[in-house]
Amino acid sequence: MSRPLLFAANWKMYIAPGEARAYLDRFLAIDKPRHGRTVAFFPPAVSLETTAARLRGHEHYLAGAQDVHWEPKGAFTGATSVALARGAGAAAALIGHSERRHLFGETDEETNRKMRAVLDGGLLALLCVGEKLAERERGETEAVVTRQLRAGLAGVKAGADLVIAYEPVWAIGTGRNATPSDAAVVHAAIRVVLVSLGFGRDTRLLYGGSVSAGNVEQLLAEPEIDGVLVGGASLDPDVWAGVCAAQG
Ligand code: PEP
Repeated sequence: MSRPLLFAANWKMYIAPGEARAYLDRFLAIDKPRHGRTVAFFPPAVSLETTAARLRGHEHYLAGAQDVHWEPKGAFTGATSVALARGAGAAAALIGHSERRHLFGETDEETNRKMRAVLDGGLLALLCVGEKLAERERGETEAVVTRQLRAGLAGVKAGADLVIAYEPVWAIGTGRNATPSDAAVVHAAIRVVLVSLGFGRDTRLLYGGSVSAGNVEQLLAEPEIDGVLVGGASLDPDVWAGVCAAQG
């Protein structure tokens, strides 16, 4: 089945508001929007409003939050609620990125609370899952990904507007990507879990981890890979436009 492609740029803790404006001016000048492909940008919170404003009115582009808090409001210094992100123009949110899980100690339970808050707030949720190198070496990849999926999706209605991003932790920012066939094996396992939870085959599955213009076409050639989540290669508009030019 052919699902619309999603190319997601995770800018992490880079690109200030002024830089975001200049980046998007350049990107929008060189990228060719096309039916069946959405490009999503996940800037740092301070650049979200600028990014969303620059993309407004462009049908094939959207902006999203890199993380949200599950509470609607309150004394949570440094955190962003779904309503605040939405007010700044977010149409989507990344949840459970490996840096949130492993650098900030986010638990499966917290990831689940964030998923439910994002979906209740009407945003597209991108749930990130993936194993660490030691887990892969112990043959635990499928078990880890299955646990993260089941926990992240607990209490989420089948049919909810979500995307799963498989990002092996050992491939993020390392220049070492999973081979398309390795990724395809894990994507097939993810699909089995999703179907068992009642999700249709229209739920998109992305791959993330050292994606570049040089490997994106081979990854997208796998039928279960519906797009990519990209950090390093999304930080320069020309490089990112090269990745987004992949046809899939
Ligand atoms: C990411 O941040 O989700 C990511 C995949 O980073 P990189 O593309 O740099 O590996």
